[in-house]
Amino acid sequence: MAGGNAIRGTRVGAGPMGEAERGESAPRRHTPFYCANGHVTRVSFAIEAAEPEHWDCPRCGLPAGKNQEAPPAAPRNEPYKTHLAYVRERRSDADGEAILEEALAKVRARRGE
Ligand SMILES: [Zn+2]
Repeated sequence: MAGGNAIRGTRVGAGPMGEAERGESAPRRHTPFYCANGHVTRVSFAIEAAEPEHWDCPRCGLPAGKNQEAPPAAPRNEPYKTHLAYVRERRSDADGEAILEEALAKVRARRGE
């Protein structure tokens, strides 16, 4: 009656198969992604996996890219820009003065000056 159970003697986890199963697994690489706010996120990828171009920064939610010098811009208008700032961007100072003159002229006309 002895014997017959010899297979039990095999240690689980021994040998090359066992090691693989314990999860010291596929080699991975860590790719840093940089967002416009200067956060760096290291994302771990399996060596054979394709890396995305962009990764959402977990800290501020902006898209982060692999080029530290040129992180992707925020998807839409930056957090805060006043209406005046937009106007200033679009118009030269001369334009601004002309518009002001025009507005003043209208005001004067309305007052009957
Ligand atoms: Zn960020």
